Amino acid sequence: MEQDIETVRLLIPGPVTTQRATKAPMMRDWGCWDAEFLAVTKRVRDKLMAVANCGTSHVCIPLQGCGSIGVEAAILSLVPKDAKMLVPVNGIYSNRIAEICTRIGRTYVAMTVGEGHAPEAEAVDKALATDRSITHVAIVHCESSTGVLSPLGEIAAVVRRHGRKLLVDAVSTFGAFDHDAQRLGYDILVSTPNKCLEAMPGLSFTLARRETVEAAKGTVPSLGLDLHDQWKQMETNGQWRYTPPTQVVAALDVALDLLAAEGGTAKRLQRYERNRDVLVAEMGKLGFVTLIPPARQAPVVISFRDPADPHFKFVEFGLGMRRRGYVIYPSRLTRIPTFRVACIGAIDEADIRNAVRAIDSTMKEMGVTDYTPAQAA
Ligand SMILES: *Cc1c(COP(=O)(O)O)cnc(C)c1O
Repeated sequence: MEQDIETVRLLIPGPVTTQRATKAPMMRDWGCWDAEFLAVTKRVRDKLMAVANCGTSHVCIPLQGCGSIGVEAAILSLVPKDAKMLVPVNGIYSNRIAEICTRIGRTYVAMTVGEGHAPEAEAVDKALATDRSITHVAIVHCESSTGVLSPLGEIAAVVRRHGRKLLVDAVSTFGAFDHDAQRLGYDILVSTPNKCLEAMPGLSFTLARRETVEAAKGTVPSLGLDLHDQWKQMETNGQWRYTPPTQVVAALDVALDLLAAEGGTAKRLQRYERNRDVLVAEMGKLGFVTLIPPARQAPVVISFRDPADPHFKFVEFGLGMRRRGYVIYPSRLTRIPTFRVACIGAIDEADIRNAVRAIDSTMKEMGVTDYTPAQAA
């Protein structure tokens, strides 16, 4: 894969390594309200809707800002004030949904799942059967703080059977997983370009049922985060309200073509799965242990437990990796010390093998001789 002029590989769950072709349209200046850029916006929206098989049931609303702002805008704009949300909490991003609800005054019930575990469809089923006042379920598809994958298909089926609405935080999965709007029947899905779509940070996009968006008219107590008004303006004259991140939109346009050229989301998932398998196997040979059992592990980001060896210091590790051309972050989990290695982005098996060699050499440089973690997990 042709990546960059400087060899830097982002082994983090977003922003990710991108191909040179994706960066190319960022080398020029773009106006934001002329026909040329409006055509780019239209193409990007159409391509995103095609990836998720939106048909005519769902619409695409891009918004300036990062993923968290997109999630907040979606809840504020598209989840009614009198709604009650069920939020399974198993890490930082599901916690963030709960915090958004608290801040903006949406009623929610937190369902404690626990770090490193996935919410189960049966538990959601039970919660919905017990509490009939719950109107929405908010699910984080991949909790990137640990790398756990939620059983989205099963949960979507349960939510539909109960006649409730589903909100999906697909920020770390859209582009490499099946987000078919017809099959999953979600009401609202939020994602960004800078993870599995292998493009740039700077905007989010929401795919939502047309009726849900229409119903939000005049109800949103925020100007900047009003997804109804953003959508209406785009439908009316093709423009964004306020200045869009032009380069970011132009890069996403190319990245969506590269996704199609790769063979679509299923093919991209295969590459990420291969990256994960090689990463886990090669790290395992060195003695590293993953936090999560393979069955729950998404091919997005892998948490490895820190070596118990007292010579291991994350800051030094991160700096050593950066000198070798890799960016790597610790995880911010509360219980078990881990570091994370992402397998998403424009990277392949060869990059993963090189990264593991860099990890080994950085460990040796720090004087770490035993990579196994402390016994108790
Ligand atoms: C990255 C991420 C977000 C937030 O994205 P930001 O762009 O950092 O705000 C939300 N949810 C999940 C699951 C993520 O991985």
